[in-house]
Amino acid sequence: MYLFKSEKQLTPFIQKEKTAGKKIGFVPTMGALHRGHISLIEKAKAECAIVVCSIFVNPTQFNNTKDLEKYPRPIEHDMEMLLKADCTVLYLPSTDEIYPEGQPELKNYDLGYYDKVLEAAFRPGHFQGVANVVYRLLKKVNPAVLFLGQKDYQQIQIIRKMMELENLPTKIEVCEIVREASGLAMSSRNVRLSEEAWNHAAMISQTLFFLKEYRNQFSSIKALREEGIKRLKTIPDSIVEYVEVCDGETLRPTEIIIEGKPAVALVAIWVDGVRLIDNLILND
Ligand code: AMP
Repeated sequence: MYLFKSEKQLTPFIQKEKTAGKKIGFVPTMGALHRGHISLIEKAKAECAIVVCSIFVNPTQFNNTKDLEKYPRPIEHDMEMLLKADCTVLYLPSTDEIYPEGQPELKNYDLGYYDKVLEAAFRPGHFQGVANVVYRLLKKVNPAVLFLGQKDYQQIQIIRKMMELENLPTKIEVCEIVREASGLAMSSRNVRLSEEAWNHAAMISQTLFFLKEYRNQFSSIKALREEGIKRLKTIPDSIVEYVEVCDGETLRPTEIIIEGKPAVALVAIWVDGVRLIDNLILND
């Protein structure tokens, strides 16, 4: 595996491989890698001759400095995982490389409704930071395919919108959520949960699976959501931020679930001082 810490090293490599006709797949991450990230690398490997994984803890997408400071950064462990997964390149840029202007001058993207609801409502500025960093990374890596996890459902719509606005030709591939045996969605933040909280957090996906299975037994989406909130509130030391059932494309709240038109249930919850998100398509 190549380790490139600067664009100066990355660009000639990418150019050479492209000239040789190799397809480049890109997996952007913030590190603290787990099997969820590795599933993206594996999918990219299956489709692309060259797989670039970036690890960059992007300061501009954290609306909470404590969260940024506490974000895990086990780089040795990450490199081992990427080596095992046979990733071609690890791109490990410095903050100065991504934001050379020092104090980052962020572009303000018109991301419409996607930047007003759910995560955007609770994490102001978060998606502008995401859109900016992904744009800067895409310009450097220039991949044919960008691999994103369904785990960050709204982020996919945000990135898709940014790419449309920037006219970027890269294709997006969405990879399904990898879960622990308990159903807990894998996340870099899970390591911050106590053992007890980690066990309790299984209730998040159990709730989503319950909503999916019994969705037709509720009189309305409102009642379904209320059931979700009631169940999540049983998790000790938790604060539920939202449980929403939305149109899978527009992310507008849905009143009825129509078969053949994806409806997604999305959850954000604090457990034991750690903010967790999860989602599930209810009608696939
Ligand atoms: P992050 O390092 O959290 O920014 O995530 C990097 C990429 O990995 C994003 O596209 C995520 O959606 C994806 N990802 C994170 N957790 C999972 C998971 N449990 N299953 C599948 N993909 C994931």
